[in-house]
Amino acid sequence: MALPSLHLSDIPAEGLQLTCSVQPEELQLEPGDARVDGDFDLAIAIAKVGRAVHVDGTLTGTFVRQCVRCLKDYDEPVRIPFTADYRGEEAPAKPQPKRAKPRDDENEPDAALEDESETYALVEDRLELAEMLREQVILATPMQPLCREDCRGLCQTCGQDLNECRCDCPEERRESPFVVLRKMSAGGPKRRGE
Ligand SMILES: [Zn+2]
Ligand SMILES: [Zn+2]
Repeated sequence: MALPSLHLSDIPAEGLQLTCSVQPEELQLEPGDARVDGDFDLAIAIAKVGRAVHVDGTLTGTFVRQCVRCLKDYDEPVRIPFTADYRGEEAPAKPQPKRAKPRDDENEPDAALEDESETYALVEDRLELAEMLREQVILATPMQPLCREDCRGLCQTCGQDLNECRCDCPEERRESPFVVLRKMSAGGPKRRGE
């Protein structure tokens, strides 16, 4: 079963629980967002409150990441828990404390912590999960993926994968490949007079 598109009237008063597999294409993931090996498994509980819907569940799947140190692809099984609220256009707005005054004071301790789940709109009374799930996947994607915490990365001089074996290059401070790139582009004859 693919990702369902549920109408409000499909959701019984006692709520709905379902599981299904979701193809990455259904979430319209771009290659730059995340690469996925196979399908996701979705388990979701849907509760209806008037014309609003609350969902929570988990999305599990296997991502293919590229390590920023050794540049190798690796698989990462991921389990993403999520909650979200959906509201119809005419849904009675929750009594919202009106204290949205912009304040300079950003360290205000209890401001903006009111609602941790995201709110989405019901589209013609339909519950569309794809966009919400896509955002969950993107939020779960690390900026600096590492194949393992202690990945040794590549030798800056010869490019040897130092996880596999050491090379004979003189030991230098090993840093991220970006530093190597920066050094390469900054190299060459000195232009700045010293
Ligand atoms: Zn690595
Ligand atoms: Zn080397």
